[in-house]
Amino acid sequence: MVFLLITFLFKKYLSEKFFFVVFISIFFTNYTLPTVTKIFKLTSETNVLIHILLLGCVSFIVITLYFKSTKTLRLLSIILVCVAVIQGVLSDKTDNNREVKEISKTYNYLSGLNIKDKPDIYFLIYDAYVAEKQMDYYGIDNHDQMQFLKDNDFVFYDDVYTVGCYTLGSVASVLEMDYTVNSRAYQLRKIISGNSTVDNIFQKNGYKTHYLLTPYFFRGNHEFGGDFMYPPINSDVGMYNILSSILLGQFKFDNEFQNDDYDEKNKTKHQIILKQTTNPKFLYSHSIFPGHSANAGYCRPNETDLYEERLQIANNEMRDDIEAVLNSNRDAIIIIAGDHGAFLTGDCTDLDGYEEEEVSSVDLADRYGMFLAIKYPDNNYLKYNKNIKILQDVFFSIFAGLFETDSILNYSFNNKPSCKGGKYIPVGAIENGIVMYGRDKGKKLYSDIE
Ligand SMILES: [Zn+2]
Repeated sequence: MVFLLITFLFKKYLSEKFFFVVFISIFFTNYTLPTVTKIFKLTSETNVLIHILLLGCVSFIVITLYFKSTKTLRLLSIILVCVAVIQGVLSDKTDNNREVKEISKTYNYLSGLNIKDKPDIYFLIYDAYVAEKQMDYYGIDNHDQMQFLKDNDFVFYDDVYTVGCYTLGSVASVLEMDYTVNSRAYQLRKIISGNSTVDNIFQKNGYKTHYLLTPYFFRGNHEFGGDFMYPPINSDVGMYNILSSILLGQFKFDNEFQNDDYDEKNKTKHQIILKQTTNPKFLYSHSIFPGHSANAGYCRPNETDLYEERLQIANNEMRDDIEAVLNSNRDAIIIIAGDHGAFLTGDCTDLDGYEEEEVSSVDLADRYGMFLAIKYPDNNYLKYNKNIKILQDVFFSIFAGLFETDSILNYSFNNKPSCKGGKYIPVGAIENGIVMYGRDKGKKLYSDIE
């Protein structure tokens, strides 16, 4: 924009050559900045200097080339633009080529049955929300919030973890009721956008399905399969975030999740909760709070304090959400959970470059551990939910209660967790709650934080 403005204002005084050199310099700088940031493990806050330095170096090379050999420079520019365009097209193509399984075996089985009582179902995720003992380990006192849940008859599930330590893989595996962690982001987003086993089953049983997420979850050109989504599809918002990430030189989690309409989203959520509809409701809301560390490749000095600050926002939102459900005076199941750990130990990221002996059970709990508590309309549900060991067991248990049959539990899948396709922490690092990788092999996942 600034460049265009300068162009417009000074077009009379400046030559075409000048614009060519400036344009190529800025384009090349922005194109390489995310890579440079990653190589030197920099956060975007420290990037202004790097940005200027890189721009200076690139400008110097471009200007030198311009005076020595304009032909080489033009050829280089064309190659650069072509590579950028091809890269963009290819990344979209590979995503689209992925086959998406439309009907799962779990759906096939449950579609032959009917739900008798139809309470509203609230699946409320607060990003990176972890259990009280994990908070204690970080030195954070979250007792009041836990007491609030206990006072409201929530059932707590201890020692639960997720099979995917990142948002999309973790949540998509819950909603698809299958191990989808290693699928492409495009496919995970499609599942989360209302094209899942959970959504299909609820819709088939007369539920209206609602999603209150952020543009991050809906990026891509697949169709929304639910009944209501917030924010409404608006590619500009996604593009704005992508562009701001590029300009900052790093795809940081805050940027991906940024949602300027935080209050508006919560207002909409509470309106939906309170609406007295004839149809039962399913609602999945994903709060960006507390959210995990910046995933910058190292821990910032105040990483835990920042998490604690964001936790207060999450706690207030959680209380407001629960109070709204209680005020609706309708039968409801409320699932309160985190989607993965807080990433506050080790490198506060995915332990890239760590030897197996350096990885402890605490590091694994810090990535895969999460919080889970559920409020049921009556105690009948408790007969069916004894086996929740991983977050992805939740809807097997909920459906067992809703359909009043234990047999659905046979469809639950092998719980071998994986972070980002097992690149740094291998697939199967935890099995049945036991650590299978690192220096604490054989220990229970949470044994060292109790
Ligand atoms: Zn998350």
